[in-house]
Amino acid sequence: TTSLMWFRRDLRLGDHPALQAAAAEGQVVPLFVLDPRLAGSGRRWERLLASLAALREETDGALVIRQGDPAEVVAEVAAEAGASQVHVSTETNPYGRRRDAAVERRLAAAGIGLVGTGSPYAVTPGRVRNASGDPYRVFTPFLRAWREHGWRAPAGDPQVEWMTKLESDPLPAHSDQEAGERAALHRWEDFRAEDLAGYATARDRPDLDRTSRLSVALKFGEIHPRTLLADLDAHGTGASGEDVERFVAELAWREFYADVLWHDPGSAWRDLRDGLDGMRYDEDPELLEAWKSGTTGYPFVDAGMRQLLGEGWMHNRVRMVVASFLVKDLHLWWPAGARHFMDHLLDGDMASNSHGWQWAAGTGTDAAPYFRIFNPVTQGLRFDPQGDYVRRWVPELRHLPGAAAHEPWRHREGLAQGYPERVVDHAEERREALDRLAELKESR
Ligand code: FAD
Repeated sequence: TTSLMWFRRDLRLGDHPALQAAAAEGQVVPLFVLDPRLAGSGRRWERLLASLAALREETDGALVIRQGDPAEVVAEVAAEAGASQVHVSTETNPYGRRRDAAVERRLAAAGIGLVGTGSPYAVTPGRVRNASGDPYRVFTPFLRAWREHGWRAPAGDPQVEWMTKLESDPLPAHSDQEAGERAALHRWEDFRAEDLAGYATARDRPDLDRTSRLSVALKFGEIHPRTLLADLDAHGTGASGEDVERFVAELAWREFYADVLWHDPGSAWRDLRDGLDGMRYDEDPELLEAWKSGTTGYPFVDAGMRQLLGEGWMHNRVRMVVASFLVKDLHLWWPAGARHFMDHLLDGDMASNSHGWQWAAGTGTDAAPYFRIFNPVTQGLRFDPQGDYVRRWVPELRHLPGAAAHEPWRHREGLAQGYPERVVDHAEERREALDRLAELKESR
């Protein structure tokens, strides 16, 4: 028999449970639907196309690409192929769940099944629960339970017989860039060999740039987290137990946020917890624009925002600092910032992004309490001690040596190359944020 493998966030062939399930049934038609609803970020769309080009190669050109609404396209292609089943990796994000429900209904009407096997996570969201069967809202106990739950060993590489006779739409033109399963595996090997040792401390230093940068590959499913976890178990890494533990914990954050979003899909764009309901936020297009363009006058913040625009990626430490700055120094509600991140991040992922933002804003899981406010200058001095990260991204500060780049206003020629004055005063805005919190508490 013939079955359809509908790829989504799983653009690889190795360690792919759904593809294994499809291949076990006979010939496989590999399909990707270019759904205009996912075109949101131009940059991420381009990256997707590059990944599809790689997947097409991996499938010896068999990949069928069609544009349109998945509810129609999947049923059409299944009929053309004479497929009796459509295989997918289970999707757990809000849009994907709604989409899959619609596709499933459409297929059922034609007597075709939609079969979900595996997911983009080591443990499928919804599975890790406490003794009373409830989900976790705090990371550390989740981490413990997630480890105890465990995951299957990776599936090997399947022997797949591709069906090649179906027509594909052309793959839209796109820029050449690192993408695809092979590139992801290389990146992972390089990271293990070179940067995992020391990760536990170096991961916080944007100037050193020693994190894996696998977030983009994980976002598109070019590599599965289970592959990473199994490799860490199987190979001596030369890294300390602490480094490995720390890396595993970071992967677990991704799983945790997916779990939280699965239980509460509405938390993609509204506060997860109601503790700050009624908080007074501003709407200030000018300040928002200064933040977006990296011209707030705070070097560490601006370097991060310019890295985002330049690379479509930002270091985690800086993501936390710029998020805190938007909410606590500019008093803007977190979705304004989360939206901008989703517009530009190559790794833009609803669960990690919205809940990363909510963590910083004090409205999410396990949140840093609202009153703990990052100081953008001391954060910079601590995590970019020589100012190298700032100078990399902010040319107007390149004339300032060492840590001086973090406080140009303290140096005579500091603003001479066109770097802007600070748009707000951190000490004042910190007090303002705390006043708003007090006001909220009094109003209750
Ligand atoms: P590494 O340090 O090498 O970590 C390995 C992997 O663990 C990452 O690839 C990622 O999959 C996962 N991970 C690490 N840290 C986190 C974390 N804090 N939360 C969830 N997963 C994590 N990550 C995204 O993948 N997509 C997003 O849209 C996203 N938005 C964020 C928004 C904010 C405000 C914050 C504070 C964090 C956000 N993160 C997001 C998490 C984190 O910043 C990135 O995953 C990380 O910087 C990616 O770089 P890396 O692959 O080199 O990370």
